[in-house]
Amino acid sequence: MKIYLYNTLTRKKEKFVPIKKGEAGIYCCGPTVYDYAHIGNLRAYLFEDILRRMFLYNNYKIDHVMNITDVGHLTSDADEGEDKMEKGAKREGKAAWDIAEKYTKAFFHDTNLLNIVRPETTPKATDHIKEMIKWIKKLEEKRFTYKTSDGIYYDTSKYEKYADFAKLNLEGLKKGARIEFSKEKKNPSDFALWKFSPSDKKRDMEWESPWGKGFPGWHIECSVMSIKYLGKQFDIHCGGIDHINVHHTNEIAQTEPVIGKKWVNYWLHNDHLVLKEGKMSKSEGNFTTLQTLIDKGFDPLAFRYLCFGANYRTKIEFSWEGMKKAQQSYDSLRNRVSLAKKENGKENKKLFEKFEKEFHERINDNLDTPQAMAIVWNMIKSDLSGKEKIELVTKFDKILGLDLLEEEELPENALDMIKKREEARKNKNWKTADRIREDLDGMNVFVEDTKEGTIWRIK
Ligand code: AMP
Ligand code: ZN
Repeated sequence: MKIYLYNTLTRKKEKFVPIKKGEAGIYCCGPTVYDYAHIGNLRAYLFEDILRRMFLYNNYKIDHVMNITDVGHLTSDADEGEDKMEKGAKREGKAAWDIAEKYTKAFFHDTNLLNIVRPETTPKATDHIKEMIKWIKKLEEKRFTYKTSDGIYYDTSKYEKYADFAKLNLEGLKKGARIEFSKEKKNPSDFALWKFSPSDKKRDMEWESPWGKGFPGWHIECSVMSIKYLGKQFDIHCGGIDHINVHHTNEIAQTEPVIGKKWVNYWLHNDHLVLKEGKMSKSEGNFTTLQTLIDKGFDPLAFRYLCFGANYRTKIEFSWEGMKKAQQSYDSLRNRVSLAKKENGKENKKLFEKFEKEFHERINDNLDTPQAMAIVWNMIKSDLSGKEKIELVTKFDKILGLDLLEEEELPENALDMIKKREEARKNKNWKTADRIREDLDGMNVFVEDTKEGTIWRIK
């Protein structure tokens, strides 16, 4: 079955044609490990997880690389301000190296809870300093660089296609409307390849280089590590939409002149998860972590479910009300799956194949998760036999990763009690209903009454 992806490069949905038949090389910009990831960041990794699962569902062999940014990402896109790692170190009175280790662990802890499969390769920037220096030297030889008092910069005016990818208005940038920039930079869009350590203090993370002691700029790591692990040309590069204008534009500018050809065939970008008040961001301090959701009693996989409610290219406005609804729907779906295990019914091969095909088509169509979920619901509510429903859930959950089949078994009698309670509620016998709820509570079964009927969850 054909796969279609929306490509930022062409601003079009295109049929996916791999470089090597049956294989897909995917590079994703990973976390900057100076703090916990917020649920907006996690949305980006959820999207990338569905992407990898979609390829596997289509029997592709995949090579998925995601970097860990543990040095050089500055607080300002204009390459000024503080290194985020040093910022984290100061905040916690620890060494930058310890901060990197702590938040890398925390990141994988979160992604595990969300059933995000760890990419095959997750290289750290600090393990690739030598390669980055080598790459900067190549750019220097090709006369793309210049030196200022604080580092080696890439001269974006030397790369004629610089504005193409993001359709940037360089004149507008020059007028200084967008980002403030250091007087020493030749163009506002120029970016640091190597930054010098300050002369008056020692950084936790610094390395010798042909230009002096310092550390790499943020962008260079992605060019170097993606090529090291995926080859000079590969299929897909992903990240959040905030990366289009600066980070990915710079990655392309520093890569294509060196390799002398087109670098990446498909660029995929997820839109943001926002709050009513605006973007969720670590630097603004207005962020919610996965642990906050857990502390409020939500299941991490209910957040995964929530993200499927919108295509990855659509903004999600996060609210606690929305989160509650997602948890209810997720519980309700799991309940229906567990009931389907006990259902008999008549088999219906035609309908089975229809659901299977439709789901596959939706997922292959630029990861249309909202429609794919609608098919899951139609299927579970249909009169397919229980056996067929479970067979389809097993297939679909390879993509969804919602653990739909792994529900713990309800304690004996619990289901009968739930049914009795529903009966009592129908007869407005609230006392009995409440008593049964208390009994269920004692058995660690949490019940909730929703528009869809009573749902339950094991606590
Ligand atoms: P960072 O750790 O800040 O480098 O970001 C990690 C990933 O999360 C990047 O791909 C960003 O583009 C993405 N991202 C950042 N903020 C959001 C957000 N609010 N919603 C969705 N993705 C985001
Ligand atoms: Zn990157």
